[in-house]
Amino acid sequence: MNVGLTDEQELLRRQARDFLDRECPAARVRQLMEDDLGHDPRMYARMVELGWTAIPFAERHGGLGLGLVDLAVVLEEMGRHVVPSPFQSSVGLAGMTLAASGDEAQAARLLPSICDGSQLATVALVEESGRWDAGGVRMAAERSSDAWLLHGEKLFVPDAQVADRMIVATRTAADPADGLTLLVVNTAAPGVTVRPLASMDATRRVAAVGFDAVEVPADAVVGEPGRGWATLRRGLDRAMVCIAAELAGTAQRVLEMTVEYARVRQQFGRPIGAYQAVSHRCADMLVMVESARSLAYHAAWALDNDVPEAPLAAAMAKAYAGDAARSVASNGLQLHGGIGFTWEHDIHLHLKRAKWGEATLGDATHHRERVAQLLEL
Ligand SMILES: Cc1cc2nc3c(=O)[nH]c(=O)nc-3n(C[C@H](O)[C@H](O)[C@H](O)COP(=O)(O)OP(=O)(O)OC[C@H]3O[C@@H](n4cnc5c(N)ncnc54)[C@H](O)[C@@H]3O)c2cc1C
Repeated sequence: MNVGLTDEQELLRRQARDFLDRECPAARVRQLMEDDLGHDPRMYARMVELGWTAIPFAERHGGLGLGLVDLAVVLEEMGRHVVPSPFQSSVGLAGMTLAASGDEAQAARLLPSICDGSQLATVALVEESGRWDAGGVRMAAERSSDAWLLHGEKLFVPDAQVADRMIVATRTAADPADGLTLLVVNTAAPGVTVRPLASMDATRRVAAVGFDAVEVPADAVVGEPGRGWATLRRGLDRAMVCIAAELAGTAQRVLEMTVEYARVRQQFGRPIGAYQAVSHRCADMLVMVESARSLAYHAAWALDNDVPEAPLAAAMAKAYAGDAARSVASNGLQLHGGIGFTWEHDIHLHLKRAKWGEATLGDATHHRERVAQLLEL
């Protein structure tokens, strides 16, 4: 593994930071938080033009044929700017699930439109139990001669309000390890209802999605029927790394804001950063940011190169990044004294993004358990 970024990746990072500094400063983030769509389609179109949505996908599917490491560079910058965007759910979650599914027909059908931004996609997995594993899926799909019929409800579906297509995890067999079938549902199909849910992070949109006798054609299956969890697992590993990279970016920005503040805020005639109580906390934050970033890039590299321990690396990256970003953001907020608690200060945007990222796709406890299982502890 190459531990540094290549010249091209450094260029990509610079381009992403310049673009987001210009297009998505905190004032714009705050406007989009109030917006019904929750994102700016014009900004998304510009990201498509810059090639970001095509980065990790094969050229035959309209992609640039790069990897997760390259995508992580962009996602770190998006986390740094707390960008409100369906990019994570369309590219990092649904797109990566299709790409990792091994289902050439489905990938050829959907990935080109995800790459060119003409369609947005998401994944609907979680139900009432709040579980992020196969056992939490109860919603059934019944097979008729040439269609599947869906009944039930999914919760916390990211960006469902703007998604055109949704990969829905349904139960089609009573198998404790799997028994799931993934179906691509057109969100405009009769019987699909999207009910927005309140999110702690107002820069993110989640919804409850109802399925009332929704009929989807037989060829809507991603991968093999009854083997959906094995397919989704590969997509989730990649999506977890995308979230981990974004969390590393948001934590990095908090660290910079905090160090800047500790340098200028004077107490007893000295900058507060001169006191050990403050400087030690900043040093701990730096260690957490660097470790989160290293784990995210290592996992991205492992997935790009199909190394056997890639799922383990992904679980470690998500567990660590969730804990680290939340801890760095809350420490940063405390070190800002009273001002960090105010609505006007931007640090709370990062804290809420960190809390959201900590919970989404399973929290650190969930992933530490997975690490233990993968290591057969
Ligand atoms: C909108 C708002 C509402 C508030 N509401 C309340 C309220 O309801 N009740 C209340 O009691 N207070 C309230 N406060 C005050 C708030 O609790 C204080 O601002 C807070 O205690 C931090 O003090 P400070 O702002 O002076 O931070 P700073 O002095 O800037 O300190 C920043 C950080 O450095 C640390 N620090 C500073 N000096 C040293 C040092 N010499 N050695 C080691 N560490 C140091 C501090 O612990 C803190 O973590 C409010 C403030 C605001 C802005």
